[in-house]
Amino acid sequence: MKKNSYKNKATISEKLKTISKREADLFYSLCDKKPNVIKTKNFKNALLKSGLKINDNRLHNLFRKLDSSGDEIYFEDFKKIISSSELLVEKALRGELALPDFSDFSKSIDKMFDEVIKNKSGELASYIPPLAKVDPDQFGISIVTVDGQIYQKGDYNVDFSLQSMCKPFNYCFALEKLGLELVHKHVGKEPSGRQFNDLTLLTRSLVEKSQKKTTTIPFNPMVNAGAIMTACLINSDDSYKKRLNFVKEQYGKLIGWSAKSKFDSKFPRFNKNVAREENFTGHNNLAIGYLLMATGNLPSKKKKPKTNINTNKDEFDFYIEPSVTEALKLYFSTCSLEMTATEIATAASTLANNGVCPVTQNRILKQKTVRDCLPILQSSGMYDASGAFFQQVGLPAKSGVGGGVFLVVPQLMGICIFSPRLDEQGNSVRGIEMAKQITSKYLVHIFDGAMTNADRIDPKIPISRWRANSCGEAIWAASNGDIRTLERLASEQKDLSVGNADMRTPLHLAAAEGQLEVVKFLLKNGVNPVPDRWGGYGYFDAKNNNHKKILNELDKLNIKFSKPNHFVEDPEGKTDRIAKYDDELMVSELLFSAARNDTTRIRQLIAKGVPVHAGNFDSRTALHLAAAEGNLETVKLLINFNHPLNVRDRWKSTPLDEAKREKRKSVIIYLKNFK
Ligand code: GLU
Repeated sequence: MKKNSYKNKATISEKLKTISKREADLFYSLCDKKPNVIKTKNFKNALLKSGLKINDNRLHNLFRKLDSSGDEIYFEDFKKIISSSELLVEKALRGELALPDFSDFSKSIDKMFDEVIKNKSGELASYIPPLAKVDPDQFGISIVTVDGQIYQKGDYNVDFSLQSMCKPFNYCFALEKLGLELVHKHVGKEPSGRQFNDLTLLTRSLVEKSQKKTTTIPFNPMVNAGAIMTACLINSDDSYKKRLNFVKEQYGKLIGWSAKSKFDSKFPRFNKNVAREENFTGHNNLAIGYLLMATGNLPSKKKKPKTNINTNKDEFDFYIEPSVTEALKLYFSTCSLEMTATEIATAASTLANNGVCPVTQNRILKQKTVRDCLPILQSSGMYDASGAFFQQVGLPAKSGVGGGVFLVVPQLMGICIFSPRLDEQGNSVRGIEMAKQITSKYLVHIFDGAMTNADRIDPKIPISRWRANSCGEAIWAASNGDIRTLERLASEQKDLSVGNADMRTPLHLAAAEGQLEVVKFLLKNGVNPVPDRWGGYGYFDAKNNNHKKILNELDKLNIKFSKPNHFVEDPEGKTDRIAKYDDELMVSELLFSAARNDTTRIRQLIAKGVPVHAGNFDSRTALHLAAAEGNLETVKLLINFNHPLNVRDRWKSTPLDEAKREKRKSVIIYLKNFK
């Protein structure tokens, strides 16, 4: 356990201190003015703001108890209320769910949505009348994380035709039943490079029992031939009715439906009309069915009927192979299932979560099944644009001519975008554009692991932590004279001139702390002095602390360093103590949160046990930052949490000095009232 200072919590009742610190921290983070009671409304809002939904099965009991709790909750009741879902609540309140900055993330997806909606290019699928009739302007997106946070916008709740999006799921169901080896006796794993309904099959040589044998099978389960094949493999001995029901049930489970629960998600809908039209116009698919028969992939189950040739007429009993009909019937039916973007995003999230449905926590698919399926999606999920799509977006994805496309961000989230206008390859135009925008902003491309691009954001990390990470290690190393770490960071091409919330960089801190070798190292590595919040370059920090050798080094640069404008009204006035907290990154994160007025994150850090008045290397605290930036909401919050007022930074400035220097009127008035 980290050492912690709880002095600032002096007002918490004695009783609170004796019970579980974890629960107390959670409770405390929700407090307003009174330290021993929280508002029911605030608790509910904090959960919803984290991305959890009011109809989340896992929180059903909790929300029910909250509804009967009145306006305020005391600690003892709080413990009882959260007991049924304590870990989930803890993750939500501490900002530890899959997308920790859910509000920021939502806002930036909203922005992308507003941009992409302007794109009206592309055409509706027209090969069957029902698809040609849908409203082309529809546009919805839903994102479901592996922790069950849900973002949704636009037409996320509109039923649309799954079409080819059924293929990967059907493939999973076949894998579950028969295993990889057996399934792939009948279908390949290679991209076809051809149109989805192409009649060409993959020819491969097999060496079986030391005899060379050639087999002909579909390229992969994502082209029609492969999908018809996998549909045929699902419970092939059962009746059509039973098989369709089985498939529907599996989809239901992927999206959180269960036969027992009364808070069910909906069961997937079957659009008979679409299935009939698929059948009437699906000549190509019928041809594929027979091709599969001819190549020995479809087992002929039924015996030919007894020959009964009427010799008097030029007539014979024309035979249609039932296994072809059966395979196609189930394939057409699963293409004709309808679901909403949120439901499909949940199913995609089940894949992202290695087969466990995020909203029920039930395992639906084996880990192995998911691991075997995703690579095929990656290479063949986006028709004959799969290669280019994967290179740019870098995520396994599948689209369908119904206008849907889903993406899987492993271990993080499932995304589904629905917009029915399609490009030439048959992919939703807006779906592709949204996907591209998401990866251009967020580090979710599977191969982004090696990127050091600071302009893009890792959505798994809160923004303030992301900022703290980008400078924290280097600043820490510079302050402490840790050249090894700086060498490593330089070789990783990390920018060593990134500043903290006061724009203080490693060079500033090294100069202030007298770390001569570090100053030399930084200058040798091309780090240019940049101004901090007060226009200082570290030069006067070195001067004030009498670090002469460092001044010599900086003088060599031949720069005229301006004097920083620190303002201290009453240097001899009262001084309050800052708290020391031994996780500097966390402190840096707290300060960044205060600088960006992110009260949600500050509460989350409080829930993690970080003292609100923790100070950094320059003895700057969250209140200094909030005051300097004029963030009144944060100032109020910090003071409610007993942040002392007269904390002094390295240059003796108090938060009020900072507000005055920056002329933050409302903050000045507020702080003066407390003096
Ligand atoms: N039912 C369609 C077909 O087999 C699926 C088309 C698609 O979404 O790619 O032709």
